[in-house]
Amino acid sequence: MDSEIEQELRQLERSLEQRLEDVRAGLVQQYSADSKEQAIERENDEVLQKIEESVLTELGQVKNALRRLHAGEYGICESCGDEIAFERLKAMPFATLCVDCAEALERG
Ligand SMILES: [Zn+2]
Repeated sequence: MDSEIEQELRQLERSLEQRLEDVRAGLVQQYSADSKEQAIERENDEVLQKIEESVLTELGQVKNALRRLHAGEYGICESCGDEIAFERLKAMPFATLCVDCAEALERG
């Protein structure tokens, strides 16, 4: 089962890295002189930068999950040490918290 998860995580890692490249390729290198066009370009860049940020966050989570997998800590809740439910890991392979702790965190 572990190698299956590793494959899935590696696939996810690759697709996120590809997405990151695409997003970065879409960023404007040189803004146009026209102020109207420049405003559109900057707006477009802002959207891309937000996407880049969220992709980077997700990529970090995937890399963290791979590290945990190799350290034998995968599937263990980082907060309470309980096992994370398999169903949850299937839906979110990079989850580091069990459902209870994740919900507690969301509630604050
Ligand atoms: Zn927990």
